[in-house]
Amino acid sequence: MLKTDEQTYLNFINGKWKASNSAEVKKNTNPANKEDVVGFVQKSTLADLNEAVEAAKGAKDGWHKLSGDARGKYLYKVANVLESRLEDIATTLTREMGKTLPEARGETARGVAILRYYAGEGLREIGNVIPSTDSEGLMFTTRTPLGVVGVITPWNFPVAIPIWKMAPALIYGNTVVIKPASEAAVTCAKVIECFAEAGIPEGVVNMVTGSGSVIGQGIAEHPDINGVTFTGSNAVGKQIGQTALARGAKYQLEMGGKNPVIVAEDADLDLAVKATISGGLSSTGQKCTATSRVLVHKAVYDEFKQKLLSQIEKLTVGDGLGTQNWMGPCSSESQLNTVLSYIEKGKEEGATLLLGGNRLMDSEHESGYFIEPTVFENVTPKMTISQEEIFGPVLALTKVDSFEEAIQLANDVEFGLSASIFTNNIQKMLAFINDIEVGMVRVNAETAGVELQAPFGGMKNSSSHSREQGRAAIEFFTSIKTVFIK
Ligand code: NAP
Ligand code: MG
Repeated sequence: MLKTDEQTYLNFINGKWKASNSAEVKKNTNPANKEDVVGFVQKSTLADLNEAVEAAKGAKDGWHKLSGDARGKYLYKVANVLESRLEDIATTLTREMGKTLPEARGETARGVAILRYYAGEGLREIGNVIPSTDSEGLMFTTRTPLGVVGVITPWNFPVAIPIWKMAPALIYGNTVVIKPASEAAVTCAKVIECFAEAGIPEGVVNMVTGSGSVIGQGIAEHPDINGVTFTGSNAVGKQIGQTALARGAKYQLEMGGKNPVIVAEDADLDLAVKATISGGLSSTGQKCTATSRVLVHKAVYDEFKQKLLSQIEKLTVGDGLGTQNWMGPCSSESQLNTVLSYIEKGKEEGATLLLGGNRLMDSEHESGYFIEPTVFENVTPKMTISQEEIFGPVLALTKVDSFEEAIQLANDVEFGLSASIFTNNIQKMLAFINDIEVGMVRVNAETAGVELQAPFGGMKNSSSHSREQGRAAIEFFTSIKTVFIK
């Protein structure tokens, strides 16, 4: 494997590791300790991207001609390599974006499972026979790949998201050019090393690192990229969707969330507290499905609040590599500053700060971007912290008078990714399932938590209304051909 030195990661184009022709690199450091250099990645140019797209275009017919079984065998090999490197890759993930090592190991293991799930897809049905009105005709559907797929991913799941996009793209016969998030590009480069080590044919998988405004935008605009799959913020996603639409390319966007949990008067409060903490604060709140609004019935509000605060006070914050730490840092200085500015807005607009709210600056924490788990109450629907995605460990509590008010507030945001309710009442469960405007509906379970074999995605401004993962992925990564034979 060609590397200029052990800390410098190259682009992967047409089966070879290649430096960018910019001759510039970006330094990625550890958000738990900014002195720790995780690695350097290429600051690529459009010329690098063009070369990668050319390679993917050149490889697509050969890859599509293989049987699904043969493509699946490559994915099984990638899964085995990733599994053998799990500890190294999980450690890199923790050092590069901060989530704790158990979370990073879980994410990497999920990557292995996703690869195996889609490897099996190579042998499953891809069409239906439909009765024709012509008794001498045979009519059926089959599926064909898009061709070259551009993959643009965020930093918060730098192993799982690239894999849950690339694995279905590949099994259904597409070739791929991926641009990972700059802040977590070393981790993604190590995932791509697993594809290389598994012997994926030249040009089938290509990675080009670089800025969103150059390489990301370049993918959205490239005339030879037939589909673009994106996960990230709403502002960027909308722009990518419009660019892809204007040139007739298929696109898929998974974006932000403002996910509520409803705690009904008959809820199991201990369960609800546990799920609110796990959903809201694990991964330092940096999940698109993170719980951020907590809507609690007035009859149980005080008891719930006391239980919640007493549990959160016990949480330990520190370097995710340390086994004693439950919550790691914010992923970057700019992320930390964004979260702190939302906390200031919450205070200014009249919410009551119950817990946390500060950057941790003692000797154990000063070299990283650590923040206290933070809880507000008296949060009203029009406040900024009720409406905008914070992407940090901040919970906003609101006392509600009724179940109907809780549902109304839960839906009163532009997002619609995930929502949960805690209740043992079947009527409330059914009403919630019916009335809640989200793609991921969770009953007596935290808002975060998805299973790779089930469709994943949002409603409203959280998504382009497509779904990823499970068998649903086939809808984006293929086109249907309706065939009639006489
Ligand atoms: P982001 O800023 O939108 O970045 C996502 C990706 O887009 C990165 O690779 C980024 O590159 C690239 N990009 C930036 N500007 C671009 C442009 N003008 N054109 C094309 N690409 C561009 O999002 P993020 O800060 O990495 O991630 C956090 C967001 O992702 C949150 O909103 C979160 O809710 C969302 N998210 C959603 C899901 C979901 O499934 N719904 C899952 C996880 C995260 P650079 O890194 O080089 O800037
Ligand atoms: Mg960003």
